[in-house]
Amino acid sequence: MVDEHASERDITLMNEALGEARMALAQGGAGVAALLASPHEIIACGRNTSQETGDLTDHAEMVLLHKVGRKLQEMNEQARRVLHHRHVGGFR
Ligand SMILES: [Zn+2]
Repeated sequence: MVDEHASERDITLMNEALGEARMALAQGGAGVAALLASPHEIIACGRNTSQETGDLTDHAEMVLLHKVGRKLQEMNEQARRVLHHRHVGGFR
């Protein structure tokens, strides 16, 4: 059965997203934010940046997904460097 009550963590994460949206609003942008979290951490948070960039597709969720993509790319590059070092080091 699904627990329909918000957990402490749900509320914390929602407050984080609302804080981001409020900051965007205070800076003259659309007050919209999106947040992606794993069970262990906040993966990324994005805000609507359409007014700054002039790109109407820069919705919060799009900005968020771009951030997630960059983060995954960085993780891949780090993993590749670790593998390269192990290879150069002969898998000691
Ligand atoms: Zn949107």
